[in-house]
Amino acid sequence: MSPISPSQLPSMIVFDLDDCLWTPEMHELPGLPEIPIHGNLIPKGVVGLQVPRYGNRDNCTVTLYDGARKILYELATNPIYKDVQLATASSSLEPSYSYACLDGIEILPGLVIGDMMNYNQIGRTGNLSPDKITHFQQLHEESGIPYNEMLFFDDCNWGDHCERVTKAFGVISQRTPHGLQWKEFETGLSKYQQQKALP
Ligand SMILES: [Mg+2]
Repeated sequence: MSPISPSQLPSMIVFDLDDCLWTPEMHELPGLPEIPIHGNLIPKGVVGLQVPRYGNRDNCTVTLYDGARKILYELATNPIYKDVQLATASSSLEPSYSYACLDGIEILPGLVIGDMMNYNQIGRTGNLSPDKITHFQQLHEESGIPYNEMLFFDDCNWGDHCERVTKAFGVISQRTPHGLQWKEFETGLSKYQQQKALP
């Protein structure tokens, strides 16, 4: 990617969770994931969360996609991102599971994903519905950040949330159909810069 200056960055980067940052989807889990799985973060860190009693069966351990881990690490450690707000927009059917993962999975030892997020809109009840327009309305209201200064990543494997919020509000968005990859992160940032460069 060409060198990027902080003035070319979005004011806010918004992430979908299930099938974008991590897998599996929360509704596939048989219960609350709460057993830390330690991996080779340096010196040592929690890289996944497992549902108790289900051992190593499929769909019982929530882990980040490799690209998502690399990107969150970059956002946590590269000072050019220090003024970029981070947020989640997820229509999870099990918000308590989603929050458990945000609060349990580490990016650096001692730094969980939830520590990095300035705003979370997770679920589909109350002010939220399965339509992510509702999540973005809340993010905009809470943060005061204009929609066109937001960049959104979502797998869009059911429902085109990206197109929906781009059409409704002009949010720049990038699909991540196989979980967030480094290249998609770069493409999203480039799209944002190009959009901002327009007269
Ligand atoms: Mg998703």
